[in-house]
Amino acid sequence: MDVILFGPPGAGKGTQAGVVSGLLAVPHVSTGDIFRKHLKQGTALGQLARSFMDKGALVPDEVVVDIVASRLDEADAGGGALFDGFPRTVRQAELLAQRLSELGRSVDGVLNLVVADEVVVGRLSGRRTCMGCGATYHVSFNPPSTLGVCDRCGGEVVQRKDDEEETVRARIETYHRETRPVLAWLREHSAVVDINADQSIDAVEAELRAGLAAMGG
Ligand code: ADP
Ligand code: ADP
Ligand code: ZN
Repeated sequence: MDVILFGPPGAGKGTQAGVVSGLLAVPHVSTGDIFRKHLKQGTALGQLARSFMDKGALVPDEVVVDIVASRLDEADAGGGALFDGFPRTVRQAELLAQRLSELGRSVDGVLNLVVADEVVVGRLSGRRTCMGCGATYHVSFNPPSTLGVCDRCGGEVVQRKDDEEETVRARIETYHRETRPVLAWLREHSAVVDINADQSIDAVEAELRAGLAAMGG
């Protein structure tokens, strides 16, 4: 199955993606994670992406879609994928639909994490991310067992540059301007299940499980 995990930055997509992709038995494809990997490796793509990410702006559609298309060519994505942080513009959604249809596939469903802006600001400014494996934590809501150390890989847990308050505001504006309209497009083209993401991590997970079951996943 091909499923989109949709929602504003800070909604909890990355936090929930592992469980959802496990249930679907498809890989978790996060465009943000792919860009951060390139940044860490110092590739040209990483440099390009950084100039947009640091401002809270979107990386150009052609760049993002190329990356997703090559990710879909990898063997593990042959039976579907869980998209996180993609599509973020209507153009990306259209190009994804086109690429999937070339593969004889389509978007089977959308899990839409619904949460208010005030909640998202608190989540993003308290978010801490592992430099080693990308796992995310929160200073109050989901701290690692040892301060600054990743539970999963022992890596260093730090604040992402774009999680500083000023960039967080810009990212939320970008979301409302460019990404929110994608939801209306998705509602016209596939089954969208709305999930109340303003609950505990466990309660959101339970709603996602129910949503997936309803979707036939
Ligand atoms: P996204 O991938 O949608 O940007 P994340 O999964 O990284 O969001 O979550 C953003 C921040 O909020 C992280 O610090 C995470 O630990 C925290 N978080 C995620 N889900 C919840 C929740 N249900 N309640 C409280 N905090 C949460
Ligand atoms: P979050 O879920 O917290 O918003 P992501 O890790 O998904 O963060 O994205 C971080 C940044 O990477 C975005 O602010 C944007 O600059 C860039 N990015 C990620 N995915 C996309 C995409 N699909 N289209 C354009 N830019 C993207
Ligand atoms: Zn880690």
